[in-house]
Amino acid sequence: MSQKPILLWYRNDLRSHDHEPLNQALKTGAVVIPVYCFDSRWLNHTHFGFPKMGVFRAQFLLESVNTLRQTLRNLGSDLMIRQGLPEKVIAELALTLNASAVYYHQEVTAEEKLVETKLHQTLSQHQISTQGFWGSTLYHIEDLPWAIADLPEVFTPYRKEVEKRSQIRATFPTPNTLPALPSLDLGDLPTLTEWGLEPPRSDPRAVLFFRGGEKAGLQRIEDYIWQGNHLQHYKQTRNQMLGADGSSKLSPWLTFGCLSPRFIYQEVQKYESERVKNESTYWLIFELLWRDYFRFICAKHGNKIFYASGLQGLSFPWKQDWQQFERWQQGNTGFPLVDANMRELAATGFMSNRGRQNVASFLTKNLGMDWRMGAEWFESCLIDYDPCSNWGNWNYVAGVGNDRRGFRYFNIAKQSQDYDPKGQYVKHWLPELAKVPPTKIHQPWKLLAVEQKRFGVQMGVDYPLPMVDLTESVQMNRHIYSASGGNS
Ligand SMILES: Cc1cc2nc3c(=O)[nH]c(=O)nc-3n(C[C@H](O)[C@H](O)[C@H](O)COP(=O)(O)OP(=O)(O)OC[C@H]3O[C@@H](n4cnc5c(N)ncnc54)[C@H](O)[C@@H]3O)c2cc1C
Repeated sequence: MSQKPILLWYRNDLRSHDHEPLNQALKTGAVVIPVYCFDSRWLNHTHFGFPKMGVFRAQFLLESVNTLRQTLRNLGSDLMIRQGLPEKVIAELALTLNASAVYYHQEVTAEEKLVETKLHQTLSQHQISTQGFWGSTLYHIEDLPWAIADLPEVFTPYRKEVEKRSQIRATFPTPNTLPALPSLDLGDLPTLTEWGLEPPRSDPRAVLFFRGGEKAGLQRIEDYIWQGNHLQHYKQTRNQMLGADGSSKLSPWLTFGCLSPRFIYQEVQKYESERVKNESTYWLIFELLWRDYFRFICAKHGNKIFYASGLQGLSFPWKQDWQQFERWQQGNTGFPLVDANMRELAATGFMSNRGRQNVASFLTKNLGMDWRMGAEWFESCLIDYDPCSNWGNWNYVAGVGNDRRGFRYFNIAKQSQDYDPKGQYVKHWLPELAKVPPTKIHQPWKLLAVEQKRFGVQMGVDYPLPMVDLTESVQMNRHIYSASGGNS
């Protein structure tokens, strides 16, 4: 190699399309050496003791990295695979391979930023440059109408301004071919078993079989947008909790960067010009703007998003009652909507947005439980766990984040009635309630003894009695919230 190679460090950008670091590295004419490092810290536990990366996400990640390797091979290159601390592993590789630079996509949250900083510190001592690129959002951070420190604290003004004053950049082209690699120790893909994880059983009740990787992500776009033509109804169907096609289910591929949001935007534009343009087609972009927003909020506020007091600095005396928490975690609260969603999460690694909002509201507004316990449980279980979206949304629902409307909560029984009127979703996950009619399913604690007999469910035996009174618990927590300085 006459010109020194460039190390292309893949992170949450496991794709070949719309990849700026790859495009920029190729432009230099240097040999580009792609590498992925599984961070050994992901096998640790969270603060409250849950596995940091549950098995559904681990499997999706392995599949995504494997697909990337195949893609790069098809293009004439390959992917080096390593495990360890990326700040060390990538630095050592850059030195050993005599690289001129390391190119990568930037992250925004503390743990990931620290890795970037340490890598930079080590490599700068050896005159190896590190070049971070922004590529995880719809709008580029440099195209926002404000400096990040001045980002609005509320979503709607952010959205309106950004839509008015900023442009979404075009995607970067996917290369047709890549320079061949010199002879290297490429390394093997690890296995779940090596990480001490049991391969998950695929549950037939799941909304979708999520397979990791760019190819499967592109296929999901094909299935949802083009073949199924579901985008035209998205706004009306996105709150469905059952089935694959109410919402896009693109989140896991977005989390690992198997799909770029700009690429999705481009597909939506194409759909709008070729098929139909309506509120629904806009609404998918609207939801991606929420995703952007939480990412920019994290860039603005750093670690605040992880504090109990949240972005608002509110000192609510959150409870850490493990007995109560476990009932929520295991789906034994006595509220069918909460229980069905929590069981779905544990069994499949996924939960709808409607479900997430309800279970988070129940944990914080009814139980007054430390919202970080919930956020960490989600972090552990979710196949699409993304620090900004997860912690940002938890801040929001717990009432310590970017919702300045004070103490808002979800009325669980009403939500259940509104979004699952026939009780099909709750019955899907709570077979013990299978015979309870739709008119009674949302409040099974009201079943008379004779009805319990008729419907084959004994309350407190086959299905738990409610752990709190919905109205009283909300009133009590509202009172505590306002006493803590919150706007009730
Ligand atoms: C408490 C809580 C925790 C959450 N944790 C995560 C998380 O860790 N990772 C994650 O990707 N999403 C998270 N969300 C947001 C949302 O629930 C999921 O993105 C959505 O359910 C994924 O399903 P979908 O792809 O079918 O979404 P769609 O409805 O099809 O939306 C399209 C895309 O827009 C984005 N999006 C939609 N809603 C939101 C939102 N409220 N915030 C941020 N982005 C959004 C997602 O990337 C999603 O894939 C959380 C929401 C709540 C209330």
